[in-house]
Amino acid sequence: MISFAGMRPVKAKKFLGQHFLKDEAIAANIVDSLTIHRNYKTVLEIGPGMGVLTKYLIKNPLYTIYVNEIDKESVAYLKDKFKELSGRIIEGDFLRMDIKVLFPEPMAIIGNFPYNISSQIFFKVLEDRDHIPEVVCMLQKEVAQRIASPPGNKTYGILSVFLQAFYDLEYLFTVEPHVFQPEPKVKSGVIRLKRNERKSLNCDEKYFFKVVKQGFQNRRKTLRNALKSLNLPADTAREAIFDKRAEQLSVEDFIFLTRKIQPEITDHGV
Ligand code: SAH
Repeated sequence: MISFAGMRPVKAKKFLGQHFLKDEAIAANIVDSLTIHRNYKTVLEIGPGMGVLTKYLIKNPLYTIYVNEIDKESVAYLKDKFKELSGRIIEGDFLRMDIKVLFPEPMAIIGNFPYNISSQIFFKVLEDRDHIPEVVCMLQKEVAQRIASPPGNKTYGILSVFLQAFYDLEYLFTVEPHVFQPEPKVKSGVIRLKRNERKSLNCDEKYFFKVVKQGFQNRRKTLRNALKSLNLPADTAREAIFDKRAEQLSVEDFIFLTRKIQPEITDHGV
């Protein structure tokens, strides 16, 4: 149990996905998984709770640490415990944070994420991907594996493709439920995302997202059937790539496919 002399521990709130990590060695390991200090110094921790990761983060003199926490009780606890974080504790919902306004410089993100919003956190990361060179996070093991899994795997899905388009993903290690207070029902996994070299997709990005979503919504069908509603020209749809299923396609395959079927880009209009 993490408690500090004279400070009452935060009462875990289920609706905020609060599961406090009790294992110091694991906390230190998660923080050590950041590699960013070689190039950048700003690190934002999402959902610090009682600061089990924060404590190790602020030990590293190369980092400037900011934390973002939605829970008032945790914020009060953190303000009391980490006086050195004064002015760098951002209270509120990460999903509503204007990252580029608050952080003009690129920054890394770290956190034991609230599992109920981990996908939404990743969609937000994708929006600001050129600003976020690295993410190290813990989330539900199953989701962590899915995100990091390569094509051809049953767990490969929409978020795997979107994230792998812009990040190199590594599954680092598994964390058992008993090291949390309260214990979650599921195992957890820690992953690292590092921004890759891809500047743009070289195709209509919105259409790419649409094709990927549509393809996986009918993941057992061939792409020819799964993408029927996109009204593919008959001769295009006869091509061999449409015999495959979405889970067999790499990011490059999806780009190739999107370029084939995206609507013509015209110079008309604004
Ligand atoms: N890092 C701590 C707590 C992890 S639990 C530890 O490892 O012990 C997840 C934390 O995310 C909680 O403290 C919860 O209050 C916070 N949280 C939940 N939703 C959030 C949101 N939308 N924005 C910011 N923080 C959030």
